[in-house]
Amino acid sequence: MATAPIRLSERSFSASARPAWLWLAGRSAMLVALYYAVALWGLVFTPDAHGIPLVWPATGVGLAFVYLYGWSLLPALGIAAGLVTWRFTGTMMPLPEAIGTVGATLAGIALGARALHHFGFSPRFERLRDVGLLLLVGGLAASGLAATVGAWGIAVGTETLRFSDTWWLCWMADLMGLMLITPVLMTWLGAPMVRPAEHTYTKGAMLIGALGLVSLVVYSGQLSAPLAMPLSYAVFPLIMLAALRCPVQVTTTLMLAAGTIALSGTGWGLGPFADMGLGKSLLSLNAQLGLLVLTGLVLSALRGEREAAEARARQHLEELARAGRLSTLGELSAGLAHELNQPLCVLTSYAQASKRLLERGQLDALRDALIQLDAGAHRAAETVRQMRAFAAGQSPERVAIAPTDLLKPVLDLLQPEFRRCKVELDRSIPPRLPRVRVAPVQVEQVLMNLLRNALEALEGRSGARIQLWVDRTGRELAITVRDNGPGIPPGRLASLFDPFATWKEGGMGLGLSISRSLVESHGGQLTAANVPEGGAEFRFTLPMEDARART
Ligand code: ADP
Repeated sequence: MATAPIRLSERSFSASARPAWLWLAGRSAMLVALYYAVALWGLVFTPDAHGIPLVWPATGVGLAFVYLYGWSLLPALGIAAGLVTWRFTGTMMPLPEAIGTVGATLAGIALGARALHHFGFSPRFERLRDVGLLLLVGGLAASGLAATVGAWGIAVGTETLRFSDTWWLCWMADLMGLMLITPVLMTWLGAPMVRPAEHTYTKGAMLIGALGLVSLVVYSGQLSAPLAMPLSYAVFPLIMLAALRCPVQVTTTLMLAAGTIALSGTGWGLGPFADMGLGKSLLSLNAQLGLLVLTGLVLSALRGEREAAEARARQHLEELARAGRLSTLGELSAGLAHELNQPLCVLTSYAQASKRLLERGQLDALRDALIQLDAGAHRAAETVRQMRAFAAGQSPERVAIAPTDLLKPVLDLLQPEFRRCKVELDRSIPPRLPRVRVAPVQVEQVLMNLLRNALEALEGRSGARIQLWVDRTGRELAITVRDNGPGIPPGRLASLFDPFATWKEGGMGLGLSISRSLVESHGGQLTAANVPEGGAEFRFTLPMEDARART
């Protein structure tokens, strides 16, 4: 694992324009105040005159600050630890020993913070390994070293207590405090919530309210122990709910709140654990709180892992879709060449016609030809735009449009082709057809392909005729293009819509395959058949506007 050097977090410097010394002074003051305050609070939980506190959150405060803000906070930590040692032991502890105690506290915390960085700990607690790392580092380095020195100091200061008797008490007190306070500081200061949903605050407030109520009832001293003890476990479902539904900051805050109320109550002799005597009661309570914190952190981490796996799967799918689109990009560029070929042919014939009309001075006809030329150029540009949009994963806008308005531009554009090929066009389009919701240029592309194929199949045949009609079948409109050409050899019908299937000189075999996918993307179907009297018939359906609105 790559080692991350401990340094002041970039966020702290870059987020504000304040000078570094001001920032450092601010964080140092915060650390000293908090360290000292939680140490005083820890005093409440000192069961006897030997001064072994049963909960010691100060080490956890130090670990969080040094992990988050770097070693530049070590001097402030030294001051805080010195102040606390002096406050606790006064003149009882000789100076060299006091310095040794403070030094060991600093060393344990610095070592712990270094290990967390080294092993890639994340203060978001989104992975099980983060929970494991905090416990391991807290248990071995931070609390382990601090407890060793603490127990040694106590053993030296008092002749009645041996090191082995006190070490594990000090260790447990440190670890318990660390488990309660470090996650809160880490999650709020190191991984602030990114745009939480509005209901997060409501949910968080309701959970804090419920937990506060339960804890206050349990530790009010009003309930008998047999009633209060089982009720004290009611905080578990609340923490579990928070871990599964709320940002991790809410869960860590709830755990700290539950722990503070329970420990303070028990320290003052209230609640179900109080009757056992301070030493035993705090040990039992610590066990319960330890399990509570573990439950909250482990559930949060499991949820984080599940969400990360879901995000990875989503990203993977998006990448696949994009890769799929890009792989069709090869087909797409061939398709683009195909689709552009037709408008370009039309444009060329209009341009040539315009030239002739200009030479003959037929200005009215020239005007019409130029209008068609302009419309054709726009169509070509729109085709290119839509294909680019397709490659970028966007679908073109769909509008409600009458079938006549869909057919007219295509028939207008192809008029010269019909004349040139001497093909008669029979159209039957009932006037009051319901509208369809489509991307018009795409449907025009389909029509253009079918009509051009029919024109090409009819080339050079006498009595050539194309029939075009629109009819209604249930909730769909069907558009049919029928010609009286040679028809499709039966053996080719099965592969007619495959990309690059062509039996035409100079053909690309893409028109029908593109047309089918365009029709299908609208929820319709494109089919081909031979007509018994001779010729081919292509038919495609489009869902009607109101049918679509109902589904
Ligand atoms: P292309 O026209 O570039 O060959 P298409 O996918 O449009 O590609 O058409 C594929 C093949 O289907 C054509 O080569 C042709 O053999 C056949 N085909 C299409 N329309 C007709 C039709 N109206 N009559 C006969 N054959 C047709």
